[in-house]
Amino acid sequence: MLRIDKLLANMGYGTRKEVKKLLKSGVVKIDDVVVKDAKTQVDPNTQVVTVWGEVVQYKPFIYLMMNKPQGVISATEDLTQETVVDLLEEEDRIFNPFPVGRLDKDTEGLLLLTNDGQLAHQLLSPKKHVPKTYFAVVDGEVTEEDVQLFRQGVVLDDGYQTKPAELTILKSGIRSDVELTITEGKFHQVKRMFAAVGKRVVYLKRIQMGPLPLDETLEPGEYRELTDEEIALLK
Ligand code: URA
Repeated sequence: MLRIDKLLANMGYGTRKEVKKLLKSGVVKIDDVVVKDAKTQVDPNTQVVTVWGEVVQYKPFIYLMMNKPQGVISATEDLTQETVVDLLEEEDRIFNPFPVGRLDKDTEGLLLLTNDGQLAHQLLSPKKHVPKTYFAVVDGEVTEEDVQLFRQGVVLDDGYQTKPAELTILKSGIRSDVELTITEGKFHQVKRMFAAVGKRVVYLKRIQMGPLPLDETLEPGEYRELTDEEIALLK
């Protein structure tokens, strides 16, 4: 059960104050009965709420997959820089989704946004070791020795020894294409792991998080809702 004014505010019918006015005007009904009191409790699972005769589909959680473009920051709001939440349609923003973890400003790829704090916590908790896979273009020749080193763990600039990570060389040369799967999420981890073996990441894209691959039909900056099956995979 929740208060009717909270439900309507969550659903984008305005601020609590605006919703109160709406209720006063007599256009809100619960199961065909006009309700005017903002404190009225409603069970959105069993009761039908209408505003101006239109049924309010109550969707408490939202789960979005974005192909984050370069140049925007993984935050909900910022005074000067564009954020991933700025890229969302108003109809999605009203649910107050936030990015699950961070990608650097210049990193592209799979970013989940949700207002489900519990799921976000599960995906981010260091105890859960959720694997994340990145495609990277690296300046320098990535070798089998690097594969071994990453498997053992490398020491980052702050002395932290990384957990075993799986490095796959797709193309080796003066510029190398690789995939790297890590099970932790230290600040700038992928870039710092390559720095630890004397190489520089020049392009980075996350292509998978846990069981969920990036939907490659999403252009950078595009996003879509997760399907029920995808949500179930993550839980
Ligand atoms: N590792 C990085 O270095 N940057 C990211 O954005 C993600 C992982």
